[in-house]
Amino acid sequence: MTCFTKPGFRQGEKLDAKADLAEVASARGIEFFLVAFLDLRGVLRTKMVPASAIKQIQRDGAGFAPAATWLDFGPHAADLLVVPDASSLFQVPFSPELAMVMGDSFIDGREVLQSPRAVLKAQVAAAAARGYVFKSGVEAEFFILSSQKEVALSDERDTQSKPCYDAQSMMRRIDLLTDIVKTLNACGFGVYQTDHEDANGQFEINWHYQDCLTTADQHIFFKWAVKTLAERHGFRATFMPRPFSGLSGNGCHIHCSLWSEGKNVFEGPETLSELGQRFLGGVLAKAPSFCAITNPTVNSYKRLNGAATASGYTWSPNRVSWSGNNRSHMVRVPDKDRFELRLADGAVNPYLLPAVMLACGFWGLDSKADAQKCFFPTSVNMYEIPDGSPELQGILTLPRNLLDATRSLEEDKQLQGLLGAEFMQAFIKVQKLEWAEFSAYLSRWELDRTLDC
Ligand code: ADP
Ligand code: MG
Ligand code: MG
Ligand code: MG
Ligand code: MG
Repeated sequence: MTCFTKPGFRQGEKLDAKADLAEVASARGIEFFLVAFLDLRGVLRTKMVPASAIKQIQRDGAGFAPAATWLDFGPHAADLLVVPDASSLFQVPFSPELAMVMGDSFIDGREVLQSPRAVLKAQVAAAAARGYVFKSGVEAEFFILSSQKEVALSDERDTQSKPCYDAQSMMRRIDLLTDIVKTLNACGFGVYQTDHEDANGQFEINWHYQDCLTTADQHIFFKWAVKTLAERHGFRATFMPRPFSGLSGNGCHIHCSLWSEGKNVFEGPETLSELGQRFLGGVLAKAPSFCAITNPTVNSYKRLNGAATASGYTWSPNRVSWSGNNRSHMVRVPDKDRFELRLADGAVNPYLLPAVMLACGFWGLDSKADAQKCFFPTSVNMYEIPDGSPELQGILTLPRNLLDATRSLEEDKQLQGLLGAEFMQAFIKVQKLEWAEFSAYLSRWELDRTLDC
């Protein structure tokens, strides 16, 4: 598929949030806008708006029935109006007549405070008021599956027990992967590498970090582009946290740094600065509470605390710990000016991930949180320390399942204050419903275990 030289596509510089989309459409040959938003379960929802109608939609918003989405509204609620933010415009390189644009949500003229983009924007504004910009880069791993079979890898020859960086398995999917990377780079992502990851059929694409709202909008477009192009190539892509019990799951690591007046204030002489460590201290202390947000599905807990995989490692954290350049901990500090949270998985909501880090990081700064008590020397392999060992005294553990995680979140009233009551109440309600539906589901496992009781 050679779709990147199509007439009409123009690589866009980042537009002003209020740029006139009708003018942009005529200048760039855009015929349709996908006006999009994410709900609390991270479902990407959209209305397709012809360029001829975008002027009115940019003024009034595209209308949705809020109860038809996961935002915790009843059928009596007035229209949810999604107003496009032109700074998040992605003209689609492989279909340049299309452009996706993220929107902000309003009902009766008031911003919907539980909408994930609003939650992140509130945290970004609070950071800006203190003179800071939070920058992030995400590593959203995914599997390429067969589109024919139920849930199976698409490549029967991708069978190595240590498949990471396997060149031949990458070559069998090179057409899809290069199409994805060309798409992202035509949209200004600055992709710098792509590899086969540590599970059979699993890949990762890395692009340059940005301010966290830009990265979140890009992350959403990334998932959409990967899934869409995989379908066009006859496959199916999944970001599900752990689709195969014998293989590593899909993580979504996030690297972050905090900037003030163009300077990265996380940078210390040898490792993170004191400020960086306090910020990190807040993130560490609150991890058991925000796990229901970073690891939001029933399946997420089969990646966390999961059994070892065919490659030997899960690559996911089992406890709240950090170290230097060491991948067996929840937080890794690969460089003296940033840290990497390895907790979140492929189901994480791209807006809520940086939002919880900002909220907890600034709480850590204000409360002078101490990261040192969760620190381990780089020589320690966290996977090898058995439960109950003396060096784990005081080390927090992560929730074992979505119900425990949701309860921890609900109990943390401080976090509720930081993220907003509207969001917390709506999110917890949606999570409890998820657990209730899961509990009501009669599974094969139960039948096998209990039929002969
Ligand atoms: P690894 O696999 O070693 O964890 P990757 O190269 O896959 O790392 O991903 C690193 C991510 O971190 C990229 O998105 C990159 O842009 C981002 N990153 C690098 N430096 C910073 C920084 N100072 N602040 C925020 N993100 C950063
Ligand atoms: Mg209708
Ligand atoms: Mg990586
Ligand atoms: Mg990876
Ligand atoms: Mg990583």
